[in-house]
Amino acid sequence: MPTQEKTAPLSKTSGITRMKGCSVLRHWKVGVLLLLLTAVAVWPQVPAHAQGTSPVRVGLYYNASALSQVTVSSTGGLKLGWLTSGETWPVELLTQTGQATWLVRPETGGRYRVASGDLPDRATAADLQRCFERAVLAWTGSSWQIWVGDAADAANATALQNELASQHPEQTWRVVGPDGKRSELCTSSGQVLAVLPASDFYLAAAEGPFINFDNKPYRGWLELRQQGGRFRVINYVDLEDYLLGVVPREMSPSQPLEALKVQAIASRTVALTYRKHGSQGFDLCSQTCCQVYDHSRETANSNRAVQETRGLVITHQGQIKPVYYHADAGGHTENPVYVWGSSIPHMQSVPEPYPTNSPYEYWEERLTAAEIKQILAQMGHHVGDVLAVEPLAYTPAGRVERLRIVGTMGSTILEREAIRLNLRLKSRVYTVKADIPAVSVLAANGQVLAVNPSGLQVATAAGQQTLHRTDAYHLLGRNGQRRPSPAQAASFLFVGSGYGHGVGISQHGAYAMARQGHTYDEIIKYYYRDVEIVKLGD
Ligand SMILES: [Zn+2]
Repeated sequence: MPTQEKTAPLSKTSGITRMKGCSVLRHWKVGVLLLLLTAVAVWPQVPAHAQGTSPVRVGLYYNASALSQVTVSSTGGLKLGWLTSGETWPVELLTQTGQATWLVRPETGGRYRVASGDLPDRATAADLQRCFERAVLAWTGSSWQIWVGDAADAANATALQNELASQHPEQTWRVVGPDGKRSELCTSSGQVLAVLPASDFYLAAAEGPFINFDNKPYRGWLELRQQGGRFRVINYVDLEDYLLGVVPREMSPSQPLEALKVQAIASRTVALTYRKHGSQGFDLCSQTCCQVYDHSRETANSNRAVQETRGLVITHQGQIKPVYYHADAGGHTENPVYVWGSSIPHMQSVPEPYPTNSPYEYWEERLTAAEIKQILAQMGHHVGDVLAVEPLAYTPAGRVERLRIVGTMGSTILEREAIRLNLRLKSRVYTVKADIPAVSVLAANGQVLAVNPSGLQVATAAGQQTLHRTDAYHLLGRNGQRRPSPAQAASFLFVGSGYGHGVGISQHGAYAMARQGHTYDEIIKYYYRDVEIVKLGD
């Protein structure tokens, strides 16, 4: 590395040191930054993506989960990208080769700097940058510049501007004031590689598929946008690459290949049709709301399922339509009219063709009366102390359609998915039993029995009646004393089967069908009605 001798500072207040030999723009062959950064011409660039399709945009951090700073790394280097209008994939602006870690943060300090004019490319900007001790690359959104100095106020910056104008008259220099909306791209030690404007920019691995972010590997580009000091992070990923991250998160990769192919085709169809987050600037989130996604669990088996079904999607009447799946049907899949209130022509209600032997075939959940009271209160239903939980109607497939909850101050009825989601039950295939304290009864043979008082025939002043679980009653002791009995259940036991809303493909049902030798198209056409499996573009 050539020695760069320093002259006296141009400006004490700005702290600028002009490098010897830089009175005019020169092309240094090496420099500290040039060792880190390989020259990349800015325009035009061939997008890294070769398939010509639009990216799937997956929201990773946004709104309340936006991050105060972002750290990414890759063993194969990192690249900074920019998206020009009319393009679908970012182009490369700046690259660091080899093992690299970058930190992105809001621009630090409330300082003034002096900006050069627009430079023809990044390499020219890097050459000019090496003329100064304190200078950073700055991307304006359309050109590279260098920004020199670090002045505390505009007056000092103006003094520096005048000095720069005399030293580098070939450039047009202007003062740049602080702007909290800009971001800085830094090395892991905090050295600023580039200042970026208040717009979206993109980060990706330079070589190899994975950029590591938040302790997980991601394929494609990460789009960052700073808003109010926090970064929204969206993953721009090719559809087929996206599926490599979804299939092993939505299904166990050790399951039969045909079941994994079912998931790949269903998830590809979902990716092209779900648009729940369009108003938030992306297509799908990475959670169960859309499809669980990241690349930490990729396996050869799940990748093979994606690759061997490449481009295959599910159509109904010649159109790609949203499809639905869930973990376990609990014996019978559900007509969506009993789930979301409206029918979907290509979703049907069918029995599981084989035993699933799934961990969700039988489950029990106990909710205390106090917990149910609290859940209802959060929903705005104030029924007092909960006395009874009663399914009023079941769907033809066996799910609770209406659930009445009776309390000391009134009752309320929950319907369809509101039941499952609010009570946080695995499914709506269940029976419910009140845990009412047992009553000790002296039988005719002298034995003392513990019995559930609900449903007992009892003698009352009005004659023989059936005791209901919400009735208050008194026990008459042998000594003739009356004792009020606790009619209120302390808790309610839900005994059920299945996991999820029950619409469309049952994943555990698909495992069972695949184990029985069924192919992916047989499985898909069993659970969905009047569908075809076609290749995109055909
Ligand atoms: Zn979502």
